[in-house]
Amino acid sequence: MNYSSYSDLKKDLTSGTISVAQVVDFHLQTIAEKNDDLNVFLEVYTEEARQRAVEVDAKIKAGQAGKLAGMVVAIKDNLCYKDHVVSASSKILENFTSLFSATAVERLLEEDAIIIGRTNCDEFAMGSSNENSAFGSVKNPLDPTKVPGGSSGGSASAVAANMCHVALGTDTGGSIRQPASFTGLVGYKPTYGRVSRHGLIAYASSFDQIGPLAKSVADAALVTEVISGPDAYDSTVSQRPTEDFSSLEAPTEKKKIAYLQDCLERPGLDPEVKAHMEMAIEKLKAEGHLVEPVSFPYLDYLVPIYYIITTAEASSNLARFDGVHSGFRAEGVSDLESVYKLSRTEGFGPEVQRRIMLGTFVLSSGYYDAFFGKGQKARRFIQEKTDEILSHYDFIMTPTSPHTAFELDQEYSDPTVMYLEDIFTVQANITGSPAISIPTGTHTNGLPFGIQLMNKRFDDKELFAFAEQVSKTLNS
Ligand code: GLN
Repeated sequence: MNYSSYSDLKKDLTSGTISVAQVVDFHLQTIAEKNDDLNVFLEVYTEEARQRAVEVDAKIKAGQAGKLAGMVVAIKDNLCYKDHVVSASSKILENFTSLFSATAVERLLEEDAIIIGRTNCDEFAMGSSNENSAFGSVKNPLDPTKVPGGSSGGSASAVAANMCHVALGTDTGGSIRQPASFTGLVGYKPTYGRVSRHGLIAYASSFDQIGPLAKSVADAALVTEVISGPDAYDSTVSQRPTEDFSSLEAPTEKKKIAYLQDCLERPGLDPEVKAHMEMAIEKLKAEGHLVEPVSFPYLDYLVPIYYIITTAEASSNLARFDGVHSGFRAEGVSDLESVYKLSRTEGFGPEVQRRIMLGTFVLSSGYYDAFFGKGQKARRFIQEKTDEILSHYDFIMTPTSPHTAFELDQEYSDPTVMYLEDIFTVQANITGSPAISIPTGTHTNGLPFGIQLMNKRFDDKELFAFAEQVSKTLNS
């Protein structure tokens, strides 16, 4: 039952060697065995998944099955699924039921995927270790003393532990790619505006994108192909039609790849991750690609830019959770102000509160220009500098994360230590570029790590095709 890619499974489903019902049962069984320990799923849709399996089996027999027939998918707990609870792993939404489905979820269902459950994540997708969930930390199935990364840690662990084939995550600053790197998976953040955000509980609207965590580039490409494309419910989504990302047409010409010298020289970069990057550079050169160092002396600004703008956006996005409209309301309150105050104090966890305060501060009159305004200008500057590199090179390559999965339950007196986790991934969210993490390395500590590739906005198809090639080269 351990299919490394959906196309292999599909062959067996079509030939009748195996049924969707069996596939679903296998995954439910795996979840039953492992979920208590790993804390991956907040809810498993057992009966529903079984029922859908029967329906999809009938469709396969009738030759009417969709592109994802029988693919078992988990969804991060910040994606709406009609008539199902969606909590963003927050107490404030603990009992909130979606009135509609996210466009991405709807599109999976239209293609006959089976949604198996919703996965734990950092509260409102704020975090890098999945330790900010109101419902407990998620463990890394490859080593349960380690974090799976965050914020889509549950989605990553679900796939890595064979609880499903693919999981949807969301990526605002690295939340798909970093967990993918920590769990040995492919993680894909599409171009901003490629996938509709309708039905995604917003953290920072100008950064958030939905994307897959999968075992192969092919699966990630197929799922992205299905969920992307125009959508009347999201005015920021591009009107460009979807492309056949999953064709993975091997590029015939050699590519020009820039690697950021500043990333490799970064203090704190694990020496083995660095050595692996150097090896990757040599291997790609040996294949005939042009691989060159470029200077990008702005790394230190990326995380501050990200935190100024995203907290500002979060403070306004999260204003709607006030104890009145929906979700958690504090008890024993007598007037409106204390409803707001207490509900938010008791409903939001410490990291979310910190970011709301930070965001409110950077937006406040008197500080707006100095922080938010400047942050926007700096964002534009980073976009221009990145575009400049991409006008000379096809791809930018960096490590996904400076290190492998770290210990659970470490004490951090300074929250910015965790913020620096995103040092290599935030650039793509600041610019809107697509970015992929592919698992190419194994550390002597036994844990996997990935390499990240990014390219021009809306060149997702080229990125998938090249990532497939790189993955073969570096894993051979
Ligand atoms: N780790 C980053 C943060 O804490 C990114 C989160 C994300 O991509 N959702 O904000």
